[in-house]
Amino acid sequence: MSENTSALEAKTIPFGTVFADRMVTSTFRESTWSPISHEELAPLSLHPACHVLHYSSSCFEGLKAYRLESGSVGIFRLDRHIRRMRQSAELLCLPVPEADMLEEMIVSLVSECRDAVPEYPGSLYLRPTLIGTEPSIGAAAAPSSEALLYVFASQVGAYFETGARPLKLLVEEEAMRSTPSFGMAKTGGNYASALHHIVEARRNFAVDQVLFCPGGDVQETGATNFMLVNDQTILTKSLDASFLPGVTRDSVLALARSLGYEVLERPFTVNELLQWLPTGEALLTGTAAVIAGVGSVIYRGEEHRAGSGEIGPNTLRLHKALTDIQRGAVSDPLGWLRSV
Ligand SMILES: *Cc1c(COP(=O)(O)O)cnc(C)c1O
Repeated sequence: MSENTSALEAKTIPFGTVFADRMVTSTFRESTWSPISHEELAPLSLHPACHVLHYSSSCFEGLKAYRLESGSVGIFRLDRHIRRMRQSAELLCLPVPEADMLEEMIVSLVSECRDAVPEYPGSLYLRPTLIGTEPSIGAAAAPSSEALLYVFASQVGAYFETGARPLKLLVEEEAMRSTPSFGMAKTGGNYASALHHIVEARRNFAVDQVLFCPGGDVQETGATNFMLVNDQTILTKSLDASFLPGVTRDSVLALARSLGYEVLERPFTVNELLQWLPTGEALLTGTAAVIAGVGSVIYRGEEHRAGSGEIGPNTLRLHKALTDIQRGAVSDPLGWLRSV
């Protein structure tokens, strides 16, 4: 699908299953990156022994290019995603791509696929990916000396339809999504270690997501950050290595400050969460879903409603403030859109 995808079409496509027909790659060998190559999107050819397939040397990013009301295309917070990709690469002991090269790869792909960027609320979801490709199963305790960096794109609709129903979460107090030091890496291994808990929770409690709160410390769900909000205040866990430093999280907090909310970033417990819920709201943030309202949480077998159980007014207000910028309906006061 390389022609302009209408909002309607994008809405009916399952998230992340339709791809633009171009990709950009660079390979790392003998300590250097090859020049950027623009190619037709096609299956990769990998040696069966390559490092990533055995020792999970991989990391990725997820960011979006939006079609703005002016008709031009804007990439949302490109600099933040590049910075985080480099941090993930470092944590995975993969070669760290230069910021300039990553930027050129992403911007040139969007430029090439500009006609494939759907109308809002659709967008072009960009997926930079870095994998260790050294063909050696002996390198279990050594970094991959070779790597492949590639960026491809997917036309996506709104993750949740408008009028999305509020989500139900399971509070998980024992299992960890990741480890105390690796949660900040955007890497497949963390998703793999969380998946079993999510599948069980869906089966046993018919929830949408699991909120990981090891030892009572409220962290995040499998793929989104978590916040509490009421008419005055936002509360979310302060950044540490145990969870993913979301760009949407950062954006929502910045907008909340400018709207006059008191923003509290500190660790908080499941008890505090349960006390908050009857008179407050809870929400999830992430690039794919942007902001999703939470209707209730299940804790030790009992369901606790957030406010009225519907998506609350503060959640809707923050959602509007953020998406107005993303779709170019208001000026971009914080310079978050890189126009292409
Ligand atoms: C990507 C991701 C998020 C959300 O980060 P954004 O930058 O807002 O998209 C949250 N948690 C996890 C585990 C993630 O992988």
